[in-house]
Amino acid sequence: MLDLTVLKNLDVAVVHEASLSDFTTFRLGGKCPLLFACQTPGQLISTVQFCFRENIQFILIGSGSNLVVSDLGIDCSVIRYESDKPLIEREGNDLVVSGSTLLDDLVKYAIDNELEGLNGMSGIPGTVGGAVVGNAGAFGKQIGDVVKSVRTICRDSAKPVFAIVDILARDIPFSYRHSMFKETDAIIVSVRFSLRPSDKLPLKKEHDEILALRREKHPDWRIYPCAGSFFRNVEPTSKAGRREAAGWFLEQAGAKKLRSGGARVFDRHANIIYKSQGCRAQDVFDLSRTMARLVKDKFNIDLIREVRFVGKFDGMPKKIKSVFW
Ligand SMILES: Cc1cc2nc3c(=O)[nH]c(=O)nc-3n(C[C@H](O)[C@H](O)[C@H](O)COP(=O)(O)OP(=O)(O)OC[C@H]3O[C@@H](n4cnc5c(N)ncnc54)[C@H](O)[C@@H]3O)c2cc1C
Repeated sequence: MLDLTVLKNLDVAVVHEASLSDFTTFRLGGKCPLLFACQTPGQLISTVQFCFRENIQFILIGSGSNLVVSDLGIDCSVIRYESDKPLIEREGNDLVVSGSTLLDDLVKYAIDNELEGLNGMSGIPGTVGGAVVGNAGAFGKQIGDVVKSVRTICRDSAKPVFAIVDILARDIPFSYRHSMFKETDAIIVSVRFSLRPSDKLPLKKEHDEILALRREKHPDWRIYPCAGSFFRNVEPTSKAGRREAAGWFLEQAGAKKLRSGGARVFDRHANIIYKSQGCRAQDVFDLSRTMARLVKDKFNIDLIREVRFVGKFDGMPKKIKSVFW
């Protein structure tokens, strides 16, 4: 029997048999044995140390806005690192932000503090930690552009050694929707951003314009549960000199007419799958495979997924051994 007193004393909420549909924007997924809800760096560090000590296998999630969790749930525990209020310190033009802070809260804080560099992230759901892992971005801007350093808990799944390590941005290769954190088990505790001084009014105006543009194309996940764009945009070919929207290829291939069980393609954006009545995570998996096949058949292009699957699905590649894939 686990003694959870230490965590409860630190105000870490511990949920037994947590339904992961409550912790993802797709509102899908089965249960996990234990979920630890951490908001602050201190809570996160203590919880990770506790899991190491007690030999508890876990995965870490932020807001779950880039995930599709299996209907079967997962058999390891989950540490959720999301804060209901921004945890930010200003040092000159730098902001030091907990990985649990919501990206949108950070954008608003930067505007109020007349600091420029984060406006491109306006309206992107999720936490700062999740955004840095996936180098989130929009409108040609990506979060990696303004990261100065990242404080991480390094862990080696073979031999759990606990170490807090600061990594400079130049040692983190960021690329389109990718950072090295996608391949390592490192946990992002906090991030230092380097911003430029600016004026509040133009920043606020740009922020509002970006939100209006997003509202035209993107669904509100509270009404249409989803994980944003399902596939990455297509890398430049010798013919097309720049990255091309996956949504365009999907639309041309007829994806907007598709559905699988309760999973549907959003009518204003062919690269977004959303959950309608009765949808299972397996429906999303099946629909995404059909969408990718249509594009392969019509354009001979292999779409690459941006959204991560968590756990087991019928038809998943045999080589997958990890929980995230
Ligand atoms: C409506 C909608 C619109 C979207 N629009 C965009 C967009 O314009 N641009 C864009 O880039 N994305 C977009 N997304 C996708 C999503 O919001 C981003 O990928 C977001 O950055 C994910 O953050 P998260 O906290 O939800 O991460 P999660 O989905 O919880 O996790 C994603 C991955 O990051 C890892 N992770 C999370 N936190 C940490 C941490 N602290 N340390 C280590 N690993 C961690 C998880 O282990 C997982 O592998 C959209 C999603 C939705 C629902």
